[in-house]
Amino acid sequence: MLGDELATYHFGEDHPFGPKRYWSFKEEFEKRFEQDGQLDKKISPQSPQRASEKQLTLFHTQEYIKKAIALSEKGEGYLDCGDTPARKEIYDSACFVVGSTLKAIDYIMNHDCCYAFAPIAGLHHATRESAAGFCVFNDCGIAIEYLRKEYNIQRIAYVDIDAHHGDGVFYSFEDDPDLCFVDFHQHGTTLYPGTGFINETGKGKAVGTKLNIPLPPNSTDKMACSLWQNAENFINKFKPEFILLQCGADSLAGDPITQLKLSSEFHAHVTSRLGYLANKHCAGKLLAMGGGGYNLDNIKEAWNDVITELINIKT
Ligand SMILES: [Zn+2]
Repeated sequence: MLGDELATYHFGEDHPFGPKRYWSFKEEFEKRFEQDGQLDKKISPQSPQRASEKQLTLFHTQEYIKKAIALSEKGEGYLDCGDTPARKEIYDSACFVVGSTLKAIDYIMNHDCCYAFAPIAGLHHATRESAAGFCVFNDCGIAIEYLRKEYNIQRIAYVDIDAHHGDGVFYSFEDDPDLCFVDFHQHGTTLYPGTGFINETGKGKAVGTKLNIPLPPNSTDKMACSLWQNAENFINKFKPEFILLQCGADSLAGDPITQLKLSSEFHAHVTSRLGYLANKHCAGKLLAMGGGGYNLDNIKEAWNDVITELINIKT
């Protein structure tokens, strides 16, 4: 998904989640596009569409959506307890982020295209009732509900390699046995949101369908890769009908607000292996969403390396 509307989802020039995140990604994407010369035969860039209020209600409460609309019109205050500012017109920008994720799903489901990438998307902290951690609407959660309602796809694997735990997705589907959840993140005792411990494996009928993999600060690819095989076996056993990947770039070394030291090679490895699993179980249905990342060079590398891997997945 490529579209300047996505750049409008930010919280100000000086905020870590600023407008340059999208432009950095796009600049590197276009550079690789030019260098390759053949990419237009392999990629079909699509422009984002705006999600409707009705689509937001697939996951969010009516009450919260109304609050987001009102605060966004005013452009004052916060959409949560103080992390996510209600910037003027942030509601419209957030609707484009959600719309880009849903359009990518439509594209995968209705075309021969198997794999898709949506930058800026992957806003995994928002809960059903509130914004959280720079995330106004949880497009990941909306995507899960949308796949079920529009396409009757029940068994979904959600894989998250952002440095922060995907708490908005985890707790919303904690008791849902058809949502396989795998999350590599910096240990909750050392980073926001302070959740995602190893003993959080799901509730009720869903016990055993969630795999939280907290990594100590300063963990490198070696540590993450050594734990990946277990995650791959977990997803393989689940036999998903669709795979969602949140590939936040803030788990790379040099991020200003986290302390993991992974490289984009881990992102590439995970993408390639999920491509293999998607081909094996669900005719290649794999959507990657950009997620966090506050070092612009890391965003460029990680997100574009994910795209390169998606292009090179062997069918
Ligand atoms: Zn993050």
